[in-house]
Amino acid sequence: MAKRWRNPFGAKRPASHQWRGVLNEYADRLDVTSKTPIISLGEGGTPLIYSPSLSARTGAKVYVKFEGMNPTGSFKDRGMTMAISKAVEHGAKAVICASTGNTSASAAAYAAYAGITAAVLVPEGKISMGKLSQAVAHDAQILQLQGNFDDCLDIARELADNYPIHLVNSVNNDRIEGQKTAAFEIVDVLGRAPDFHFIPVGNAGNYTAYHRGYREEIARGVTSVLPRMFGFQAEGSAPLVNGAPINNPETIATAIRIGKPASWDLAIAAHADSNGYFGAISDADILAAQKVLAAEVGVFAEPASAISVAGLLERAEAGVIPKDALCVLTVTGHGLKDPQWGLKRADGSEVSPLVVPVNADEIASVLGMSKGH
Ligand SMILES: *Cc1c(COP(=O)(O)O)cnc(C)c1O
Repeated sequence: MAKRWRNPFGAKRPASHQWRGVLNEYADRLDVTSKTPIISLGEGGTPLIYSPSLSARTGAKVYVKFEGMNPTGSFKDRGMTMAISKAVEHGAKAVICASTGNTSASAAAYAAYAGITAAVLVPEGKISMGKLSQAVAHDAQILQLQGNFDDCLDIARELADNYPIHLVNSVNNDRIEGQKTAAFEIVDVLGRAPDFHFIPVGNAGNYTAYHRGYREEIARGVTSVLPRMFGFQAEGSAPLVNGAPINNPETIATAIRIGKPASWDLAIAAHADSNGYFGAISDADILAAQKVLAAEVGVFAEPASAISVAGLLERAEAGVIPKDALCVLTVTGHGLKDPQWGLKRADGSEVSPLVVPVNADEIASVLGMSKGH
């Protein structure tokens, strides 16, 4: 059985050097044995992009880890390859998750590859069309719960406790384990850990995972730097900033619309260990940062992901980021997940591209050009 999932190329890389997914690339640093089926879509190996623009705006050296480049368009794939592989190793025929959208898209895709059932619970009317369409396309059993994400997670846990179905939310440690590989990749590329790491925070699983990954790199002796973990929540959904859970979280950044973070205690520990920071950002500043990221860096991200940029700009403005500090920003999900935001101006009005006649001279004049080279 397990054989069916092994890399057909074996341990040897094919000549093309195709990235082999995080379980193959980091098998020695994850709980992967010869009995573990490798359920992989080639996740990880995402670009770490140096940004001259964000560096000039802040005086720091700024890199963007673009996790929208994962197979289903978000970092959730790193954790899901691990969670589904371990679930199948333990004989699971069905998995369940609560989701604000990206976890459901990822669980659906990896379950499809594994040939098992994925059931997903999403808050009714609160997930983006792109994410819903992914889960439908991959044939997940999607149920819209008449409640918010926190209710979805409570019910998913109850089902997994009492029925033969395996929970793949980030309360499952396999998810955090898979996600810590992003920190490994950053250290591999930079040759050291950054001074500051900026990241969106919802359930705080990813915040926890990066901290764990960096701590392991220090233990391996490949870097001596522990990045200060700077996590950001939306103002209407900022329980870790306020120090207490929230009953009715609200933000346009649906991926982080979470009032009771599942990894609360782990995140508090990572925050304390790294001399970290939790900050709140308004929806308006999230959308402004999404525009900066798209128009100045060339990276189109969903609103929740852009909060890393908003957080960097806010902290730099506050004078907290020393000149030339090495900063990495996790950009968690692709802008195509929720494309409506790209079409809006800062005042909320819709952009509609200008209509022009089939005439080169008129088009040139619209573009403000006169003849010649
Ligand atoms: C899941 C998700 C987050 C939040 O990650 P947590 O681990 O829940 O804190 C942020 N951005 C995007 C795009 C996500 O899908």
